[in-house]
Amino acid sequence: MHKHSGPNSSQTDYAQNKQSTSCAGGRDRLIKTDILIIGSGISGLSLALKAAQHFNVIIITKNDAMESNTRYAQGGIASVMAQIDNFESHIRDTMEAGAEINDLKSVEKVVRSGPRLINELLKIGVRFARTRQNIFDLGMEGGHSQRRVLHASDVTGLEVEKKLLLKAKKNPKISILEYHAAIDLIMKRHLKRRQGADRCYGAYALDKKTGRVVTIKAGATVLATGGAGKTYLYTSNPDIASGDGIAMACRAGCRIANLEFVQFHPTCLYDPRAKSFLLSEALRGEGGKLRLVNGKRFMQHYHYRNELAPRDIVARAIDYELKKSGERYVTLDMTHHSRAFLKKRFPTIYKTCLDFGYDLAARPVPVVPAAHYFCGGVKIDLSGRTNINNLYAVGEVTCSGLHGANRLASNSLLESLAFADFVYRDLIKKQQHIKASNNQNVNPWDTGRATDSDELVGITQNWDEIRRMMWNYVGIVRSNKRLLRARARIKIFSDEIREFYWNFTLTPNLLELRNVCQVADLTIRCALKRKESVGLHYNIDYPKPDLNSMKYNIIR
Ligand SMILES: Cc1cc2nc3c(=O)[nH]c(=O)nc-3n(C[C@H](O)[C@H](O)[C@H](O)COP(=O)(O)OP(=O)(O)OC[C@H]3O[C@@H](n4cnc5c(N)ncnc54)[C@H](O)[C@@H]3O)c2cc1C
Repeated sequence: MHKHSGPNSSQTDYAQNKQSTSCAGGRDRLIKTDILIIGSGISGLSLALKAAQHFNVIIITKNDAMESNTRYAQGGIASVMAQIDNFESHIRDTMEAGAEINDLKSVEKVVRSGPRLINELLKIGVRFARTRQNIFDLGMEGGHSQRRVLHASDVTGLEVEKKLLLKAKKNPKISILEYHAAIDLIMKRHLKRRQGADRCYGAYALDKKTGRVVTIKAGATVLATGGAGKTYLYTSNPDIASGDGIAMACRAGCRIANLEFVQFHPTCLYDPRAKSFLLSEALRGEGGKLRLVNGKRFMQHYHYRNELAPRDIVARAIDYELKKSGERYVTLDMTHHSRAFLKKRFPTIYKTCLDFGYDLAARPVPVVPAAHYFCGGVKIDLSGRTNINNLYAVGEVTCSGLHGANRLASNSLLESLAFADFVYRDLIKKQQHIKASNNQNVNPWDTGRATDSDELVGITQNWDEIRRMMWNYVGIVRSNKRLLRARARIKIFSDEIREFYWNFTLTPNLLELRNVCQVADLTIRCALKRKESVGLHYNIDYPKPDLNSMKYNIIR
C-alpha cells in the first residue's frame, strides 16, 4: 500500500538531460529518463559510466555523492592477477568461504570477469599499489589461498570512488541528483491507468533540501543502494547503509533472499569515540595476531588458518572468548612490524588509531566485531535482473549467489563491478524497449493529511531499540528463543512506525527508520526459516549444517 500517491496531479515537468532536471518555482517535479540508478557507490557509478554510452542516465543519491560504503573500503579488490594464481583457486576459495552454498555459475562468471574489470578501472585512472619492480603489490586476506587483493594502500574504496565520480560528473549523459532519497519504486498501482503487466516505472524521491517529492519516470530502474549495517547497534558501515533498496524492493514485490547471512567484521577499533572504525583484514594478512587481554593467542583453537580463518569463524571465536572471559574486547597485535612499515602500508589506519591514542607499532589495540556486510538482499539472476520487469539490482543490495553463506574478503567490490557490467549488457539488448518505456502517466506524490510530528522522540526511541534488539537477539550467535523474541518485538515497532509514516510528514530520518525496521523484520524471518548453522548464520538450537542446505532462503 502506498500512502502518498493520489490522483491530484499538480504539474508536469519533463526533463531529459542534465540542464533541465530541476524545476523553477519550488513546485513538485516530474523527471523522465532512460535509466534511473539509485545510489552512487561503485555499483551505481560504474554502471552509469557504461550505460551512458547508449542512454540518458539519472543517478539519485541520498547524501553527498561520495558518501557510500565504497568510500570506506580499505582492504581492496580481489582478482586473479598474479602469474602463480588462477581462476580455479579464486573460485575454490570463494566457494569454501561460502560453505559451498554459493551459486557456482555466479562465482565463475564474476571471478573470470575480474582481470578485465580491473583493466577498465586502470583505464579511468585508478591507481593500485605496485612493488619496486612495478608489478601489483597484491595483498593477502582471510580465506584466500593466494595474494590477490589489489589495493591503494588502505584507502582503496576512496581511490575507486573518487575516480568513478570524477568521470561521471564530466559525462553529459549522466545527471547526479545529490540529497535525493528514493522513497518507493513506482509500480502499476501508481499509474493513472492500471493496465498491462506489473513492472517498475521509476521511483519517488525525497529532495532532502526542499522536503519535496520528485517523481522520476524511467525506462529501467537500478537499485544500487548498498547494504544495511545500520540495522545493528555496532556497525562498520556509514549512516547511509539503512537497507533502503532491500525494503523498497520488498514493498514492490521482489524476492528477498539470505538476509540471515550478516557478516560481522571481527576487528573494529574498540573505542566509543571511533564509532566502529574498521581495522582491515589486511592487517591480519600482514601477520597481525589476535590476543586476549591477558596477552594469550586463541585463534589456534578455532581454525587451521589461525587469524586468517574466514571472518565468520574469527568473529564467532572473539564473541565466544569475550562471553567466556567477561572482557569487553580482545586485542590485535601488529607490534612485530616496524613503525615505518605500518605507516607506509596502512597510513590511514595507523593515523586514525594514533589519533585515538593507540600506536599500532607500540602495543596491541583493542578490537571487537561489528556488523559489516549483508550477503543477502534482493534476489537477482546472472544479468542482475530482479523478478520485476524493468527493475535491476547491483552490488551489496543484492543476493547474487556469489557469496553463499559467507563473503570472501574483498569479493564485494569485485561483485559490484561485475554485476554492473552484466546489467549493462542486458540493458543494451533491450535498448529499444527501454527508450520507449517511460511514457506512462504516473500519479504524483500526495502527502495526504500528514502533519509535522511534535513527537520526534518516538522515532529516536525506535531507532535505538531496533538496533540494540538486532545486536542482542539476531547477532553473531542466535537461538530460537531470541529470534522469536525479536519477531514479537519487531511487530510492535512495525506497527508504531507505520503509524508515524501515515500521520507525519516524511523526513529522511523516518524514511530510513521505516526501511531499517523492514530489513530487521526480513532478517529475523530469514533467520527463523533456516534451521541449521552454516556460514554466517549460527543458531545454538541447530548447531550443525543441514545436508541439503538451501542455496536461496527466499522470503515472499
Ligand atoms: C569500512 C568498510 C570496509 C570495506 N572494505 C572492503 C574491502 O576492502 N573490499 C571489498 O570488496 N569490500 C569492502 N567493503 C564492502 C564494500 O565497500 C561494499 O560492499 C561496496 O562498496 C558496496 O558498493 P555499492 O555500490 O553496492 O554500495 P555503496 O557503496 O554503499 O553505495 C550505496 C549508495 O546508495 C545510496 N543510497 C542508499 N539508499 C538510498 C536511497 N534511498 N536513495 C538514494 N540513494 C540511496 C547511498 O547514499 C550510496 O551512494 C567494506 C565496507 C566497509 C563499510
